[in-house]
Amino acid sequence: MYPSYLNLSKKELKNRIEKLFKILKNCEICPRKCHVNRLKGEKGYCQLGYLPMVSAYHPHFGEESVLVGRHGSGTCFMTSCNLSCVYCQNYEISQLRIGEEVSFERLAEMMIELQSVGCHNINFVTPTPQVPAILKSLEIAIEKGLKIPLVYNTSSYDSLEVLKLLDGIFDIYLPDAKYSDDKIAQKYSNAPNYFETMKSAIKEMHRQVGDLIISNFKSQNSKPKLKSQNFDNIPEGVALRGLIVRHLVLPNNLAGSEKIFEFIANEISKNTFLNIMVQYWPAYKAHQYPELSRRITKEEFEDAINLAKKFGLKRLYF
Ligand code: SF4
Repeated sequence: MYPSYLNLSKKELKNRIEKLFKILKNCEICPRKCHVNRLKGEKGYCQLGYLPMVSAYHPHFGEESVLVGRHGSGTCFMTSCNLSCVYCQNYEISQLRIGEEVSFERLAEMMIELQSVGCHNINFVTPTPQVPAILKSLEIAIEKGLKIPLVYNTSSYDSLEVLKLLDGIFDIYLPDAKYSDDKIAQKYSNAPNYFETMKSAIKEMHRQVGDLIISNFKSQNSKPKLKSQNFDNIPEGVALRGLIVRHLVLPNNLAGSEKIFEFIANEISKNTFLNIMVQYWPAYKAHQYPELSRRITKEEFEDAINLAKKFGLKRLYF
């Protein structure tokens, strides 16, 4: 059955939710390991409790075309983030934490609403600190008839143990590969050990879902492999299952693009669907850092594309 979560037994899904809520008691949901009891209202780095907190939800037409399709990606902007990027373009959501705490039932209703307006997927933006609440809401949404795939849209500052509990639930992983230098990750995102954490997270995501499969009914490639009865409503060119990696090129090569492409090509797959993003602009506090206070140049972007090609990466999206 497709999407994958429809194959999980109710018992198995409950079991995963129980394990995740247990982790919340001494929170190690993400690599920050704050060890606060979020079930009792204690707050860690992300400042979140155990209920879902949502800043906005709507069909989104600005994501990759394979997620947008004809009717949009059903995006739920989850409030807060476990990174603190000084140039964050969504800082009102991620760092000022403007959003509303809602019930599990309400988040389930949001998913159903997005499905009912034709969205091709439910795209959780910065899901990491809220994984337990998302799964609890998913359980309710399945009862209400949810049947479109889930997208895990993350900075990749994720715990391996928690990701393993998501196996068979998310069909599409959409991780950022932000930095290859830990000192730079620390300086601009307050993310210790980012490179190793990101690498092990993306490896696990790829182990679960593999390279991206896009609907193409002229070829028989994708259809039989996924055994779906829900394919009839999916237009061609829409992501069905797999990994999409995003890399935001930063000015002055601060993202360390070369090592990131080398990792993806050699340790993930040369067939990785890779979005090399040009849209950096100095948002939020970036103006306090002269080296981040400008957009990237045409040459910097072309250098990044050429580097990706040098490592044999061929599914480039930009
Ligand atoms: S999810 Fe939040 S409270 Fe839990 S470890 Fe991460 S930042 Fe800390």
